[in-house]
Amino acid sequence: MASEPSDRNRAAEFDAPEAGERGIPFDAVCTGCGQVRVKRADEDPDNPTSFKHVCHKCQKSTWWNPIRTLTGLMRQNGHPAVEGGDRS
Ligand SMILES: [Zn+2]
Repeated sequence: MASEPSDRNRAAEFDAPEAGERGIPFDAVCTGCGQVRVKRADEDPDNPTSFKHVCHKCQKSTWWNPIRTLTGLMRQNGHPAVEGGDRS
């Protein structure tokens, strides 16, 4: 399993170009090198599947497995919240 350093700054990772410019932010683990980073992808926030994203450590496009949907970052950036009541 990937370890998760406690000094991560998810907001900074979200703002970094490596996270991508569109889509929902996820904590995701690179299947190539095992690092966990914030990556944005057009996935269902309730049931995300693996997606391809550039890994700057692997220096190529790799598969990423989402491990957490970052709803807090979504709210800060004007996405509708996915937690709470109003889902149909
Ligand atoms: Zn990687």
